[in-house]
Amino acid sequence: MKIIDSHVHTWTQQIISKKDIEARRIAAEHSGTEPQLNSPVFDLRNAMKKAEVSHAVILPIDSGLNQDMPLTLQEKTDYHVDEIEGDKTLVTFVGLDPRRGKEGLIELERAVKEKGCRGWKMYPPNGFYPDQEEFYPYYNLCVELGVPVTVHQGFTSRFKYVKYARPVHVDKVAVDFPELKIILAHVGIPWVNEALMVAAKNPNVSVDVSGWQVYAKTPLKIYQMIADAKLVHVFPNRFLWGSDFPLFENDVTLHEWAEFFRNLQLPQEMIDQGYRQVSTEDIERVMWKNAARLMFGEKQ
Ligand SMILES: [Zn+2]
Repeated sequence: MKIIDSHVHTWTQQIISKKDIEARRIAAEHSGTEPQLNSPVFDLRNAMKKAEVSHAVILPIDSGLNQDMPLTLQEKTDYHVDEIEGDKTLVTFVGLDPRRGKEGLIELERAVKEKGCRGWKMYPPNGFYPDQEEFYPYYNLCVELGVPVTVHQGFTSRFKYVKYARPVHVDKVAVDFPELKIILAHVGIPWVNEALMVAAKNPNVSVDVSGWQVYAKTPLKIYQMIADAKLVHVFPNRFLWGSDFPLFENDVTLHEWAEFFRNLQLPQEMIDQGYRQVSTEDIERVMWKNAARLMFGEKQ
């Protein structure tokens, strides 16, 4: 089976800020691991090979308005475009903070039209609510360009603001732009019900399950979330598999996470209670068909 990871990252110390490095050190200390300061595309390709993940979507983050970044906005786009050049198994989005106004709009258009970026990655914890009307030109432009927007949701790192990352702040955008395809990252964790509610009521909203591998060894929470997503018809058609690679490699590797999901079955007790079992077809939709349609432009 083809597998698309709809949410991965690449970076090296040369492209991240000093604040990012510090945040990674803090997070690593907290979990008793080594900070992940370099994860170039080479590492991603190796992990994909081991995990038999055939395709992946790189989601760069624009923190340039909050932190001193070594690269300009445009240089950062080009960095990610160049690292995947000639590789049909990888695509990249463009990372943009919509508070950049006109400059950001120009970059969004350049990134998609000239550089082949497949969508926009938005990172509200840098300090903005997605439903501010001054950002509406960005959503209009995405619709015009025919690209989706993946919005980071929920849990974030030390120097970011989590209050901006609630799914409810995406609802108005989803309502006002019915043709805009929106992906709520991480199923909004910890605001899972909120993310599922926003997706359930808005047919243009999907969720991605990246980061949930942290529960793969104690999977009750994953089972319950999927059963709930199934009940509100977000799973399987608007549910994307993803990892957030390389962020959780120390807990559960990409290989283990792909394996877990490929073989996903709800426990018998849940089926006895009336939940419907996950089918092979569901898994195919979640692990590649939905992302092929949304992010690789394939008709599925
Ligand atoms: Zn991410």
